[in-house]
Amino acid sequence: MSTREKPVHAPMDQFQSAGRELLVGGIPLERLVDRVGQTPFYAYDRELLTRRVAELRAALPASIKLHYAMKANPMPAVVNHMARLVDGIDVASGGELLVALDSGADPHEISFAGPGKRHGELRQAVAAGILINIESFREVAELGAIRQATGWPVRVAVRVNPDFELKGSGMKMGGGPKQFGVDAEQVPELLAEIGKAGLAFEGFHLFAGSQNLRPEAIVEAQQKCFELALRLAESAPAPVKFLNLGGGFGIPYFPGEQRLDLSSIGANLAAIAAEAAEKMPQAEIVIELGRYLVGEAGVYVTKVLDRKVSRGLTYLVTDGGLHHHLSASGNFGQVIRKNYPAAIGNRMDEPAGEAVSVVGPLCTPLDILADKMPLPEARPGDLVVIFQSGAYGATASPRGFLSQPDLVEVLV
Ligand SMILES: *Cc1c(COP(=O)(O)O)cnc(C)c1O
Repeated sequence: MSTREKPVHAPMDQFQSAGRELLVGGIPLERLVDRVGQTPFYAYDRELLTRRVAELRAALPASIKLHYAMKANPMPAVVNHMARLVDGIDVASGGELLVALDSGADPHEISFAGPGKRHGELRQAVAAGILINIESFREVAELGAIRQATGWPVRVAVRVNPDFELKGSGMKMGGGPKQFGVDAEQVPELLAEIGKAGLAFEGFHLFAGSQNLRPEAIVEAQQKCFELALRLAESAPAPVKFLNLGGGFGIPYFPGEQRLDLSSIGANLAAIAAEAAEKMPQAEIVIELGRYLVGEAGVYVTKVLDRKVSRGLTYLVTDGGLHHHLSASGNFGQVIRKNYPAAIGNRMDEPAGEAVSVVGPLCTPLDILADKMPLPEARPGDLVVIFQSGAYGATASPRGFLSQPDLVEVLV
């Protein structure tokens, strides 16, 4: 009889331990707690961010430009750090644009996407000289008016809603009816409007989806996006200078998931770059990544307040929860709740001796950080660490819910 092994989390070996303590940014966790001054907090490891970008660059052709989609983690210190490592920043609001500009990123390499850009945000973007990914006919008209009123050049690309979907993607953001971008079949008409409005057309933006761990699906999507862009370029009012093929590279969150193998993606991007050099000689090929760049470098740290047993199940009640980390609670796009990888950060040398549920202080059964997870035996005062928390954490959580104390974020 074969015994089927229970799926386990990918090892969180990007972080090391010293004795019983987890090290974050080289600092033992208990000392880091004192340095931060409170729990709960998010800590992002500077060195891991740097290493991630270096490893990614080594796996991709040198001509591919790398953009950071800052909505994954818009903490200004993180954006400043990333701006020095990547080629450009993708923003999704006027507020993010201000942080990106503060970081010193070259406005020429900042782009702005989002389905509901307000007039004021469009004007901000034009004044800053960044690239605007147009997502509707209304935006063309408003940008035309801004150009008329100011005389400033208006740099635009067209965000295309492709006529296919990214397979195996956690969140589909293209294909079928979508609020994002302009349907591929309407793009020729939109391009004509862009020409008439006197906007400076610079390229295309295609983003098929997010959190994909299947290299063959990413390769297929990038290939199809490239082919679609080649077709659409025939109706463009000017040569393509920017071709943003999206990204969607995932990271392993749940038991059974493994880190993405980049080799086939790198090879395919090399083939795309070679073909583009011939057919779109002025085009810079860009991929934009959020969570893949920052997600694995962050931890969420919360302190155990209480330990109680209810009808045989042990609960660790912590001072943090879904109000700070909605995605680890399973309420940010998960269909079936699964555990993020977690540890007791001051008992790294002890065996996982019991299965416990880690919950937060909120008065809702949704406030779960880990459900029946094998962990070392923890006591009040111990530190629960949730890994894979560098993306879609602090700013993707309902921090006002139940008026709990707010979190702190640090880059170490
Ligand atoms: C959210 C978003 C991203 C980043 O997605 P990740 O899964 O974090 O890599 C990239 N591009 C666009 C257009 C997005 O909306």
